[in-house]
Amino acid sequence: MNKVAYQDEIIILRVKDWQTADKYAVCFSREHGKVSFIAYGARYGKSNGGRLIQPFAQLSARLIGGRRFDTLQQCELSVLPQTMDILALAYSAVIAEAVENLTEEYSPQEEIFILLQQALVLLGRHNKRLVVVSALCKLLSFCGFDPALENCTTCHEKIEGDAYFSTVQGGVVCDNCSTGAELPFAVGTRELMLKLQRLDFANPEKFVVRGADLMQLEQTLYKFLVYQTDKPLVSLQFLAQISV
Ligand SMILES: [Zn+2]
Repeated sequence: MNKVAYQDEIIILRVKDWQTADKYAVCFSREHGKVSFIAYGARYGKSNGGRLIQPFAQLSARLIGGRRFDTLQQCELSVLPQTMDILALAYSAVIAEAVENLTEEYSPQEEIFILLQQALVLLGRHNKRLVVVSALCKLLSFCGFDPALENCTTCHEKIEGDAYFSTVQGGVVCDNCSTGAELPFAVGTRELMLKLQRLDFANPEKFVVRGADLMQLEQTLYKFLVYQTDKPLVSLQFLAQISV
């Protein structure tokens, strides 16, 4: 981006301290996609809204394009921050990291911005594990990595019962085609994933979930994400430490 100022709605994905007084942040914006920027002086109270640069804050921001990263000129809250307990913060971090790893800078995709907005609200109201898994399913689909769940990715036979999931082939593999390298993927897990892909975040329906299916789906999704992005999901380690 050239040195052009622009206004956008942003959701902060990650923040770290930068030099002595500044903050570096990665956000996902409504109209510009993923953007990283420096908020100069943000660690001092008097800066132009710099104290608002916190993980998962939703802001209306004015930024100036730069060669390596943009610069925050000013910002204000666009949505009042909700109080989040440590578990909600940890789950939000998993979604934020997945968004950061799966998207390119300045590649606008408003549906991802809306997904983030809705997921942050739902995390405070519903089963956090389900919200995260559903958000990741939707995110994979928005980023063009929608796993094939209806038919075997090798022989194309329709899958009915228990099967396997191949992270390499990006979908299910039937019993006959399994080479032993795939992950087990029970019929309940597959049905749960289909349901969570389509879950309406604006008006989520209630349903019963088997713990074993959810656990298998989480493990499969996390492995698939890591395979697709070639990056570990660092936030999962923190989550594992606090949710024992
Ligand atoms: Zn097959």
